[in-house]
Amino acid sequence: MADDFTFEDLPELVRQGAQALGWTSPMPVQSKVVPIMLGDTDMIVKALTGSGKTGAFGIPIVTKIDAETKGCQALVLAPTRELAKQVATEIEALGAPKGIRCLPIYGGVGYAAQLEGIEAGHQVIVGTPGRILDHLGSGKLKLDQVRILIFDEADEMLSLGFWPDMREVAKYLPKERQSCLFSATIPEKVKSLSRFFLNDPEFVSLNEDEGSPQEIEHYFVITTAQEKEANLLRLLEYEDPESAIIFCNTKDDVRFVTSYLQRRGFDADQISGDLSQAAREAAMARIKAGNLRLLVATDVAARGIDISDLTHVIGYAAPESPEVYVHRTGRTGRAGKTGTAISLVSGLDIGNFKTIQNVNKIKITERKVPTDADIAERVRERLAVKAEQEMRHLDERERNAILARFRPVVNALSRSDEGLAELATICALFLREHAPESPASEPRQEPMSDDARANEAPRKREGGRGGRGGGRGGGRGGGRGGGRGGGRSRR
Ligand code: AMP
Repeated sequence: MADDFTFEDLPELVRQGAQALGWTSPMPVQSKVVPIMLGDTDMIVKALTGSGKTGAFGIPIVTKIDAETKGCQALVLAPTRELAKQVATEIEALGAPKGIRCLPIYGGVGYAAQLEGIEAGHQVIVGTPGRILDHLGSGKLKLDQVRILIFDEADEMLSLGFWPDMREVAKYLPKERQSCLFSATIPEKVKSLSRFFLNDPEFVSLNEDEGSPQEIEHYFVITTAQEKEANLLRLLEYEDPESAIIFCNTKDDVRFVTSYLQRRGFDADQISGDLSQAAREAAMARIKAGNLRLLVATDVAARGIDISDLTHVIGYAAPESPEVYVHRTGRTGRAGKTGTAISLVSGLDIGNFKTIQNVNKIKITERKVPTDADIAERVRERLAVKAEQEMRHLDERERNAILARFRPVVNALSRSDEGLAELATICALFLREHAPESPASEPRQEPMSDDARANEAPRKREGGRGGRGGGRGGGRGGGRGGGRGGGRSRR
């Protein structure tokens, strides 16, 4: 029935909005999502950028909300200002015939225009969690009329470190609402987010055979033998795993990869068959406790050791058989959690690798190794998110004072190689200090009751680290390389 949906089924004014955008028939994700979202069901939608996902939530939003009522009735949270702008432009166009206004809100720009928009009573707000929180904290923005909450690119939002902000925003939202989450991938942290915000959600994927979110996301990159370790580094910077095991086929490779990573400041250790069982158990205990990020091992050394809860499994060398692939990747995605399995495959191994995929009937997607530009952009985004979180408790005068004091210093540092090295060190330390929190690293959260919400009444932040709950204890020893890094090449 859902697939029978056409734009003729929409109210005239909404159809006009779609027409103004040049949309004459729904895209597949819209056919599936719009009819369900027009009801009150919460949803998890696995959808890629470019699939038409903005329309999939934009159409129900403009259909359902009331143009006569001023004030925010639908809130869309997005990871970046570019996405927020793009989504806001599309919803503004969709809603124009019905008289619905959509306001983008994001950091890095002045407050005045956004405050004017809030005053004017825009019914839809699309923004990044940090700046939205600024307006909530100042009391200028109210979310008590919100009926629809959307997470756009939820996986990206969590990867960028927005979880503490999202948790804060939750305190301002009414309990009665529809919440829908859109994400290209559904790793454990996204599932945890859905448990926090959504209520009995319906799962929708464009892939007919995906009845429920995949437990393990499998992908591979093609690499030459010469570039293997450099590409491993890029992938680590890209993924910024909380905990990973890196499988090699030989003890020599284990030693080489471990020291290669350690020399580049990664928190890595090895287990090889040369170590006693006790020593191997000790290394495992460290990674399980969150005191070690990367463990490099052979299949033999890791055998018989109980490691669960790893966020990533990386195959530095192709497994020798299909069974070994399953055994390796079973180290993540355990106990109902999800994980990511990445394989570095050399051109010569590709035939064997396809066989592994076919025998195991696992869909393993090919991706490109992230470029320098991807990585730089990703790290910049993470720094921006963290800096904004740190600055939030300051008033405008204090922020201006910081700018006045440090802008000349930053300018001076950026003019010499030595200065740039110092800046880079400061950035790396800052990111290490602010390792991303994700909902997956917290105990399961039940949806908040009204009482709990009342007790958690919105409050001003007392200090810079105010909102940083739980965390993962002190022990993420060594450097975190380039930070999260790695442009998630738009899939
Ligand atoms: P999105 O995945 O939301 O970024 O959308 C990708 C592109 O598809 C955007 O340029 C949209 O304007 C466009 N688009 C969305 N829905 C439709 C539709 N029903 N017909 C034609 N183009 C669409």
